[in-house]
Amino acid sequence: MICNDKEAIDYMVEEANTYTKDGRVADYIPALKVADPDTLSVAIYENEKTCITAGNTEETFTLQSISKVLTLALALMDRGEDEVFSRVGMEPTGDPFNSMIKLETHSPSRPLNPMINAGALAVTSMIYGSSVDEKLGRLLAFIHELTGNSSIRYDEKVAKSEYETADLNRSLSYFMKQHGVIEDEVEHLLELYTKQCAIEVNCRDLAKIGYIIANEGKHVESQRPIIPLHIARILKTFMVTCGMYNASGEFAIRVGIPAKSGVSGGIMASVPYGVGIGIYGPALDDKGNSIAGMRLLESLSQRYDLSIF
Ligand code: GLN
Repeated sequence: MICNDKEAIDYMVEEANTYTKDGRVADYIPALKVADPDTLSVAIYENEKTCITAGNTEETFTLQSISKVLTLALALMDRGEDEVFSRVGMEPTGDPFNSMIKLETHSPSRPLNPMINAGALAVTSMIYGSSVDEKLGRLLAFIHELTGNSSIRYDEKVAKSEYETADLNRSLSYFMKQHGVIEDEVEHLLELYTKQCAIEVNCRDLAKIGYIIANEGKHVESQRPIIPLHIARILKTFMVTCGMYNASGEFAIRVGIPAKSGVSGGIMASVPYGVGIGIYGPALDDKGNSIAGMRLLESLSQRYDLSIF
């Protein structure tokens, strides 16, 4: 039982924390610059009730790219696989998350997968709702249901800061609009996307969502299905093939756990039929993944034999 192993978890967090000195906090979204680069915290749900934590797990941070998993779940529930995958592909890119290159060189010009920015923008545009507020409200309600934490909101400062500086995401959106991948007003899409990325959680919330995705999409306490099984499978598969951006291959070898990271330093991991893990460590490596978080997941995977391969 991982949850009886508090001393070992504390030790692993302490050891992984030494890696933060080699990382840097994201600064291309100005509001993320203020994060403390030396922090590292983790929460692990081992079954529906037991959660072990280490570090300051009360600290909140924004989902950033981790939100891509949740919008994909919602869009798939709203529209079904055929429609979603007619607009976004299923293949890893090997390029940075905000790259534009494959949009132009691939034919048809649709994004290669839902975990890169272009793909996530296309997915977000498929969420049902007649306004930004309604769509965001549906996403938040879904997250409240998953976490049982109805106080989860988006951070207005982070959303505004990204919205004002999101010219690369604007270009990706305009490109896709020209090619018929999206139909939305680009500014509305950008408003929704930057708000979705700015949804604020703590490690426990992430660990709980990770646990649900790991365990057939069933609600932790009631076992009621929240995410249909086939969709939970799709999410985990994308987490393996594209969840850690263009470091997903190396991560699969070293760690072997379906996971999704965000540039705020969060990582959500789902061991199929096993634990859900939430990590926060804002110092990032050069590919935009939490440097200490990756190290911690590697230690956890080795010690508890968590690799799915
Ligand atoms: N909001 C961020 C962006 O679009 C999310 C990217 C990330 O976490 N990798 O740039």
